[in-house]
Amino acid sequence: MTREQYMRRKRLRLARNWALLILICAAIVALMTRGILWLLPKANALLAGPRSFEAASYSGTGYTFDADDARLILVNANLPFAGEPSPTLAPANEDGTIQLEAEAADAYRQMSAAAAEDGVALVLSAGYQDADARTAAYEAQKQQYLEKGKTEEEAASLSADIQLPAECNEHGTGYAADILSSDYPDRDTGFDTTRAYEWLTAYAAEYGFILRYPEDRQAATGVVFEPWHWRYVGTENALAIRASGLSLEEFLALQKAS
Ligand SMILES: [Zn+2]
Repeated sequence: MTREQYMRRKRLRLARNWALLILICAAIVALMTRGILWLLPKANALLAGPRSFEAASYSGTGYTFDADDARLILVNANLPFAGEPSPTLAPANEDGTIQLEAEAADAYRQMSAAAAEDGVALVLSAGYQDADARTAAYEAQKQQYLEKGKTEEEAASLSADIQLPAECNEHGTGYAADILSSDYPDRDTGFDTTRAYEWLTAYAAEYGFILRYPEDRQAATGVVFEPWHWRYVGTENALAIRASGLSLEEFLALQKAS
């Protein structure tokens, strides 16, 4: 090998080594950049906590009250059904075991899908109930009080605060939906601490559902706070009712008076 050949080889080796080094550095930088970009939003979410669900603002302009709107049917302890209702039903939950009135069922399915996109798994635990199912629910509630040593009269009165008698229970309309979540399947007031309840409070009205028995309207509804019991009234009505801050009883009375 001549000296010239040797020097040429040396230069080539040097050039190759530099090229390799630059390539490795570039790869490391690319990997680190990707890693940081992947980590940043996660660290951000961790620091900021879970996203809060907030209702869109509602102006109320354009709302017209229609006293003949069937979706605004009022049923309570003072207003029992005139006759047993026979709504057109459709399956509302995924396995089709629970039905709601057809329009309400469609709205529920849309709402449930939207909640799922926000990471909230709604569970429909009750919808339409026929007279037998409503009677059974009321009797079961009354039985609990009788077993606690209450008299027949006391048991009936206490039950009615939680579980209305069959002819006063709006689950017969097909418009009432008991909604819980996969992480909180119990029908008790603790449901109001869940992400699902927060989501429903923010967005259910956009799908036509209102909280039927709010905590601060018990005097008007005659029923204790039921964070799981939502009532379909249609989107326009639901937005107006929620904006009013009133119960369905008070809202209807106000609209009919004006
Ligand atoms: Zn209910």
